[in-house]
Amino acid sequence: MAEMTLGSRIFVAGHNGLVGGAITRNLRAAGYDNLIERSRAELDLTRQVEVEAFFESERPEFVFLAAAKVGGIHANDTRRAEFIYQNMMIAANVVEAAWRSGANKLLFLGSSCIYPRMASQPIFESALLTGELEPTNEPYAIAKIAGLKLCENYRRQYGFDAISLMPTNLYGPGDNFDLESSHVIPALMRKAHNAKLSNAPAMGVWGTGAPRREFLHVDDLADASVFLMQKYSEDATINVGVGHDVTIRELVELVREVVGYEGALEFDTSKPDGTPRKMLDIGRLQALGWKPKIALRDGLADTYRWFLDNQDSLRAAE
Ligand code: GDP
Repeated sequence: MAEMTLGSRIFVAGHNGLVGGAITRNLRAAGYDNLIERSRAELDLTRQVEVEAFFESERPEFVFLAAAKVGGIHANDTRRAEFIYQNMMIAANVVEAAWRSGANKLLFLGSSCIYPRMASQPIFESALLTGELEPTNEPYAIAKIAGLKLCENYRRQYGFDAISLMPTNLYGPGDNFDLESSHVIPALMRKAHNAKLSNAPAMGVWGTGAPRREFLHVDDLADASVFLMQKYSEDATINVGVGHDVTIRELVELVREVVGYEGALEFDTSKPDGTPRKMLDIGRLQALGWKPKIALRDGLADTYRWFLDNQDSLRAAE
């Protein structure tokens, strides 16, 4: 197995996104200085011909596949065709081209929504494909399951060193703060911020507040990704999380504290709750010697600082 060294040619697919951005920061801080970057305008990963030509000419040795079409519960539920098509194409094109061009290793990033909606908690990696998926994000989950199966089977048939990680719900600097398409943390942060500025008596929260979610800071995910790229080479996917979760109601209380908004909460139960709970078992990752470092309250404060600094140039919704 070839080792990733500071001079290795590394392609971070999706380096402008939340996850790819964090992996790029982590690698640079550790001294990796041979990173290959392509914006979406330069390289459309859903186009096989473009992806093949890029891998043939650049020949990256290590590939972090962090590019994906992502969004919160509403975007997943309403833009279903885009989520399944784009994510399947990106995974298939990049895994095939990386293997064909002779890359040493590829790391694929999935999501905890690949597990059955009613999986027993905490969710072990072995729960994969044992039950029905959560309907609001089934198209995205199916594409991510296809991605991890690509990795597993390219390893089995070709001996290609492809590994897959399944992170829990992510948040952090660089997130999408668009209220329609974002995940819950940036949405609640922006709503609390707007309510505070306008002295609004209440802020809106989707659903009942009862669902439980586990949240991982994206810098912790980046750290785990680089760690696993160096240490892990098996076909079984590996969960990345923090090992505990909170209700959406508890989350919104924390967000309000960080933002400094003291008004009331209005729960809009016409909006979906999604899956009741999805907390990952992280025993396998811990046994390898990695654990998360950023507590939720600190991570929220860090994310809010980023939001305040970048309000004028926030990433537009796609
Ligand atoms: P999920 O983990 O795939 O369900 O994705 P989200 O991060 O979008 O939503 C997590 C939970 O937060 C769901 O139960 C949502 O109903 C709830 N939620 C509460 N308020 C909001 C909001 O303003 N935006 C989003 N996206 N979710 C919210």
